[in-house]
Amino acid sequence: MRRPLAFPSCVCALRICGGGARAPAGRLGAMENPTLLPGVGPDATLLFVHAHPDDETLVTGATMAAYAAAGARVVLLTCTRGELGEVIPPELGHLEVGRQLRLPQEAGMDDAGTGPVAPPADGTGLARERERELASALAALGVGEHLWLGQGLAAPASGEVVFRDSGMQWGTDGRAVAATTVLAGSLSREPLAGEAALVASAIRALRPDAVVTYSADGGYGHPDHVRTHQLTMAALNLAARDAGDAPGWDVPHVFAIVSDRPERPLEPGVPRISVAGNKAAKAAAMREHRTQVVVDGDRYALSDDVWRDISGVEEFVELAPPPSVCGVL
Ligand SMILES: [Zn+2]
Repeated sequence: MRRPLAFPSCVCALRICGGGARAPAGRLGAMENPTLLPGVGPDATLLFVHAHPDDETLVTGATMAAYAAAGARVVLLTCTRGELGEVIPPELGHLEVGRQLRLPQEAGMDDAGTGPVAPPADGTGLARERERELASALAALGVGEHLWLGQGLAAPASGEVVFRDSGMQWGTDGRAVAATTVLAGSLSREPLAGEAALVASAIRALRPDAVVTYSADGGYGHPDHVRTHQLTMAALNLAARDAGDAPGWDVPHVFAIVSDRPERPLEPGVPRISVAGNKAAKAAAMREHRTQVVVDGDRYALSDDVWRDISGVEEFVELAPPPSVCGVL
């Protein structure tokens, strides 16, 4: 994620609902006044679907940690490894695709400038680094189950596949648009139906009580965030149908993230749902995403070097199962 970041364009799918449901006292440790998602209790199974490593922590980390601490089954599905993202630490700058190796230490050279020059990055090295970072972040959140799109429960019958970061650049309106750099298996350029079928398989296997993902505009507009919303909505529709021996599963609650672009306009009468989660765990997880997040006390910055407060409160709106309404497929 490059910076914090609309309201679902599929407003026809919005379901009006009440505020967060209070969890049983004493089950959420030191968190004060914990609240959870309405209708999704501490014994639930939740599936969070995100585009890149760090997104899960930045906009849903406190919620994931709160549910994990409460004893819920929390599963993260990440679509790509963020191969085309920016890298903050200079010593890891050589991992960034297309980066100008301006500094000797970024080029793998010693102070005298006589060391070897690093080869151009192809995203593989950054993918491996972000796999490690995400595993550490999930440990900090207390989340023990993770899936990559195309692998494990979300793998095609023909064998595992990898979906890659689509990249982005800033449009003239301040929102993200597609990048000119394209990797093979780019998430937003691969067929939506195939991606949705993989997530549907995972949903049938996990039978979650709730699925959480981005709103239709992808928050700040990253093509992978938009595609992640689309494939998740399509998957919810597919998953409701039987597939071979796997019975269909109609997910009871679907939530769109609002805290990924808190300044977005919401239509009057659409209630935001606030979850007061585990801020300390979220902050700890942020520190693990060192290639793209810098933490100092209760504040953090992304590659834009704008410092923001770390919040334990995350906001959502509840969606009605929308695919058949919105015609994603
Ligand atoms: Zn992202």
